[in-house]
Amino acid sequence: MKSFDPPRRILMGPGPSDVSPRVLAALSRPTVGHLDPAFQGLMEEIKDALSRLMNAPGYACLPLPAPGTAGMEAAIMNLLEPGDVAAVAVNGQFGERMVDMAGRAGAEVLRIEHDWGTPVDAQKVADALKGRKVKTLGFVHAETSTGALSDPGPLCAIAREAGALTIVDCVTSLGGVPVDAAGWGADVIYSGTQKCLSAPPGLSPFAMSPRAREAVAGRKEKARNWLLDMGLIMSYWGGEGGRTYHHTAPINALYGLHEALVVIEEEGLAAAHARHRAMHEALVAGLEAAGLSLLVAPGHRLPQLNAVKVPDGIDEAQVRSRMLAKYSLEIGAGLGPLKGQIWRIGLMGASATPWHVRLCLTALTEALAAQNYPDAGKAALAAAEARLG
Ligand SMILES: *Cc1c(COP(=O)(O)O)cnc(C)c1O
Repeated sequence: MKSFDPPRRILMGPGPSDVSPRVLAALSRPTVGHLDPAFQGLMEEIKDALSRLMNAPGYACLPLPAPGTAGMEAAIMNLLEPGDVAAVAVNGQFGERMVDMAGRAGAEVLRIEHDWGTPVDAQKVADALKGRKVKTLGFVHAETSTGALSDPGPLCAIAREAGALTIVDCVTSLGGVPVDAAGWGADVIYSGTQKCLSAPPGLSPFAMSPRAREAVAGRKEKARNWLLDMGLIMSYWGGEGGRTYHHTAPINALYGLHEALVVIEEEGLAAAHARHRAMHEALVAGLEAAGLSLLVAPGHRLPQLNAVKVPDGIDEAQVRSRMLAKYSLEIGAGLGPLKGQIWRIGLMGASATPWHVRLCLTALTEALAAQNYPDAGKAALAAAEARLG
C-alpha cells in the first residue's frame, strides 16, 4: 500500500462541501484521551455553540458520533415505540428515509404525500393529523433531494395542537438558512457537519427539547439501539453527575467541528445566511441567462441547494463528468423520480463564494456547449457579475 493522495476537488454538490484549510488543520491536531479535562472543555464549548447555532436554549445539544442519518435514527428510535403512530410529511428522498426508519421502529406510519419539489403544506398536515392520536410528526426543513425549503413554525404548531412531538431534519439547513428550534417549538432537530457547516462528514449535531426528553424517559421499553440511546449517551455528553465512559468520542472529528463553529461565529450567523442568499441569487441569475430553469418555484427555494432542470436533448451525466474532469468541480445528480431530470448545485458553507459561482457557471456552460447547447458562458457570467456587484 501507499499513502492515499486524494485529488483536489471543488465540491458543489449536495454535500460534502469544501472544507476550509482551518478546519483541515484542526483535524490533524494531536489526539488526546476522551476523558482528558482539556477535551471535556472542548465538549462543553461545542454543546454551547450548537445551542446558539440552533437557537435551542434548554435543549440537550450534542454532536452524535455518526453522519446526519444518525440524527434521524436517534430521533426516531428514541421517540417511537411499537404501535405508536408516526406521521411523516414526504416531499423528497429524506422524508422517504424517515418513513422507512419509523416503520423499522415498529410504528404505524402515516404518510403525508407531497409532490417532489414542493414544500411541506401545513393544511395537508393539519388535515392528516385531525382526530388522530399521533406520537410524532417528522419532516425535512431543507429537502436536499429537490431544493425545497419548508416553514417549520406552522408545522410544529399543528403538531403541538395534536399532542405530537416534532422531528425536524435540519441537515442541509443549519448554517445556510435560519434554524430556530425554540422559536418553532421543535422537539428534536438534527443536522450534519458536511453541508453548510463545511466540516468533514461523520457527526450529527442534535438537539432535544425538555418535552422530548421527558417522553424518552417515560418509554415503556428500552430503545432498541444502544449507541444512540439518549439516556445512555447523555451520561457521557450531559456532564451532570460526572462524565462516564459510553463510547470513545471521535476526538479529532470534534476538533474539526469545533473549528467550523468558531469560523461560523466569527463570520456571524446572520452574515452567513446573507452570503448564502446572495450567492444563490447570483447563481440563479447566471443560470437563467443561460436559458436554464430551476425545479422549485421562487419563494420556496433553498439558497444552498439549487435543483436545475436538465434541458431536452442533453446527456446530464456527461455534463457532470466533463465538469469533474476539466474543472475538478463536482455537482450532484437527481435522485429517485428526479434521476436524469435535474442537477443539484450546492452553495454550502465554504462553497458559497463568488469564486464558486463564477467557476460553476463557466464549467456548466462550457460542458453544455460541448453538447451543441448554445454557448451562453459570457451571458451567464455577466448576469451573475451584475448580482455580485
Ligand atoms: C445529507 C442529508 C441527510 C443525511 O446525512 P448523512 O450525513 O448523509 O447521513 C439527511 N437529511 C438531509 C436533508 C440531508 O441533506
